[in-house]
Amino acid sequence: MLQGKKALVTGGSRGIGREIVLLYLHNGASVYYIDLAPGDSLDEYQELAAKHGSEVVYKEGNVSDESAITAVVKEILEESGGIDILVNNAGITRDGLIFRMSTEDWMNVININLNSAFFISREVSRSMIKKRTGAIINVASIVGVIGNAGQTNYSASKAGLIGLTKSLAREVAGRNVRVNAVAPGFIKTKMTEALSEEQRTALTTQIPMGRIGEADEVAKVCLFLASDLSSYLTGQVIHITGGMGM
Ligand code: NAP
Repeated sequence: MLQGKKALVTGGSRGIGREIVLLYLHNGASVYYIDLAPGDSLDEYQELAAKHGSEVVYKEGNVSDESAITAVVKEILEESGGIDILVNNAGITRDGLIFRMSTEDWMNVININLNSAFFISREVSRSMIKKRTGAIINVASIVGVIGNAGQTNYSASKAGLIGLTKSLAREVAGRNVRVNAVAPGFIKTKMTEALSEEQRTALTTQIPMGRIGEADEVAKVCLFLASDLSSYLTGQVIHITGGMGM
């Protein structure tokens, strides 16, 4: 489905990012992924890429460091000759009620979850506009739509990402570049593994489908948004929540 395409995925070494890298490779894309460390999956990625005659390249980078990440993205654009698919996926949580939240926890979340997408999309969209083709996918969250007590920083970052998605979609639509967001609910990854059994049960009762989602269920929607199957779709936020928040 992505034969000959080149993708860039941030936070691609584990969790949702890992499943996106795997699914893109399975579908014939070459993948560059940026993370703080390569993670345990690089061998598996390389095997898959070799099987499909494509490539996987790891680049170290902190997505919230403007000058460093801009340099890494420029290097990737030069090496690859241009990126067809960008997934802004790297993200963190630093939860707490607002009256106890440190400025550092607020800033880190906004920098890593939102400012990173600005730094990276600025470079990549410029190149996509020139090529008159591209798909950008921002990994937001359902809490950016409905809010969540204890996550003012995180939900503000994800709501910001949704605003960035819609405005950028309008800026680049005429150049055949599509920009969409996914808004996952509760997905089984390291990010949510700290939840207690009690919190998990309470959460599950709010999900109409009655279960927490799997990372590959988010990746499948990111495959759809990257492919021509979604050729007339831009500026949208797709909820992947088992029905929560509908
Ligand atoms: P995860 O398992 O914690 O993975 C996040 C990835 O991002 C890790 O590989 C992490 O690297 C990387 N990362 C963190 N900070 C970074 C930085 N400054 N620079 C570069 N890479 C960085 O989380 P996940 O659940 O897969 O989350 C992926 C995305 O989905 C996030 O944007 C998250 O907000 C969103 N999301 C998740 C859920 C959920 O329930 N899991 C729900 C809604 C939205 P390290 O391994 O080195 O830390």
